[in-house]
Amino acid sequence: MADYPKASSAGRSANMRAIRRTDTKPELALRQALHRMGYRFRKDHRLDLDGRRVRPDIAFTARKVAVFVDGCFWHACPDHGSRPSVNQGYWNPKLARNVERDRMADSALELAGWRVVRLWEHVPLEDAVAAVITALGRPGQPAQPGGPAQPSETREPLL
Ligand SMILES: [Zn+2]
Repeated sequence: MADYPKASSAGRSANMRAIRRTDTKPELALRQALHRMGYRFRKDHRLDLDGRRVRPDIAFTARKVAVFVDGCFWHACPDHGSRPSVNQGYWNPKLARNVERDRMADSALELAGWRVVRLWEHVPLEDAVAAVITALGRPGQPAQPGGPAQPSETREPLL
């Protein structure tokens, strides 16, 4: 993939081995890593955006950063989201609906002033952490709460 210029098949299988080596779900691992670094956030926090309900896996409500860790199969990752060969009449529309729902959630969030970070579950943990930190600390976007600050989020990261 263009995102991974050095991703030889060897590198990719190393990633896959790393995924299999742990029983921890990628989104759980990401939450734990961020929490250990001092970040505070809501998990599975429901947002009502113009009538559309969105539930990011990780939400920084004061900084308005929404993080999703998308399963390669369910969200049709271009690397691992291969379609089931059986019963395509069932799976294709179902997976297409998932992807469509993702895009609509992204739009609703962005319209409401949120920054959206979507990570495939195959992304290495350190890359996922870096992507979230980048989104939180983007220059020109100070951590100004749009409303009352969430006390749990006023703590600065312990970096
Ligand atoms: Zn994948």
